[in-house]
Amino acid sequence: MKYEFNITKTTSPKEKPNPDTLEFGTLFTDHMFVMNYTEGKGWHDGRIVPYGPVTLEPAAAVFHYAQEMFEGLKAYKSKEGDILLFRPDKNAERTNRTNERMCIPLIDEELYVEAIKALVHVDSDWIPQKEGTSLYIRPFIIASEPFLGVRASREYLFMIILSPVGPYYKGGLAPTKIFVEDEYVRATPGGTGFAKIGGNYAAGLKSQEKAHDKGYSQVLWLDGAERKYVEEIGTSNAFFVIDNEIITAPLEGTILPGITRDSVIQLLKSWGMKVSERRITIEDVFKAYEEGKLSEVFASGTAAVISPVGELCWKDRKITIHDNQIGTLSQKIYDTLSGIQLGKLEDPFGWTVKV
Ligand SMILES: *Cc1c(COP(=O)(O)O)cnc(C)c1O
Repeated sequence: MKYEFNITKTTSPKEKPNPDTLEFGTLFTDHMFVMNYTEGKGWHDGRIVPYGPVTLEPAAAVFHYAQEMFEGLKAYKSKEGDILLFRPDKNAERTNRTNERMCIPLIDEELYVEAIKALVHVDSDWIPQKEGTSLYIRPFIIASEPFLGVRASREYLFMIILSPVGPYYKGGLAPTKIFVEDEYVRATPGGTGFAKIGGNYAAGLKSQEKAHDKGYSQVLWLDGAERKYVEEIGTSNAFFVIDNEIITAPLEGTILPGITRDSVIQLLKSWGMKVSERRITIEDVFKAYEEGKLSEVFASGTAAVISPVGELCWKDRKITIHDNQIGTLSQKIYDTLSGIQLGKLEDPFGWTVKV
């Protein structure tokens, strides 16, 4: 291996969880990856250590000005026992695009993927094998310099933690109820919408609570400038199937460039379907529904892969999509993508990477 990480094994391994009752993001494995950045020295001392609390000064920059970023991907264990990652190079690439925007020093992308592989390898017994389960991987970077001035930190911590997770929807794919947010906005042109950062999420909590209070599971964000164009659904990308055209918002800086989104687009194109990355107004989505042309709406993201939308509520207008049933296209994309991720289906795109 080109990169060597010092490994300190835990002396008190935890008990593995029951795969039948796994939730999302509540349990963590025995180890974590840590690497430091110091100005003048660069990234150094990448190491695997027992999972546990980190010590930071209260003055650490991340607590005050939110200079941080995160990523998310999954490891799966195939029937044959192979450990598979899904397009981890894309997470490394996206990390650096986020870092660039957040004035966080870039990371060698090859080292980044090797760090993920090394940690997953050490904790490979934690990858659950039951249908629908996986090991969620959370790389993140925080500004750790104790300094209250406003400028980019001169010290950082890059860490990776692992969490065994259950199926996103217990009963399999289920249509969700989505609230169209027309008051708060998530991102504006020139802002940080394309960067995977905690700040975007903190700013979205208010809207998510509002949607929950009204009985909806997520919000559909409209563009921040005019509140007219559809952008994303919660923490996932949005697709609208209208008249056999599959439409998703273009990557113009305000939406998160999802790796699942990119995979869905490539898959649909390989099936000869018409996919358009273009702006569409919420008005046109509702109009298409009234004309009987809106056949499916779905969201894409690492956590759920594909999540069909059964209901959309925009101001005082409510529509039920595809009879609140999973659409055939949503199901087909889900089956194909998760089949490739699990090593059950052939991988013509070369997306899966063995650990
Ligand atoms: C992570 C994320 C997505 C989905 O990206 P994937 O790479 O497909 O998991 C979409 N929107 C937001 C806001 C996100 O943070």
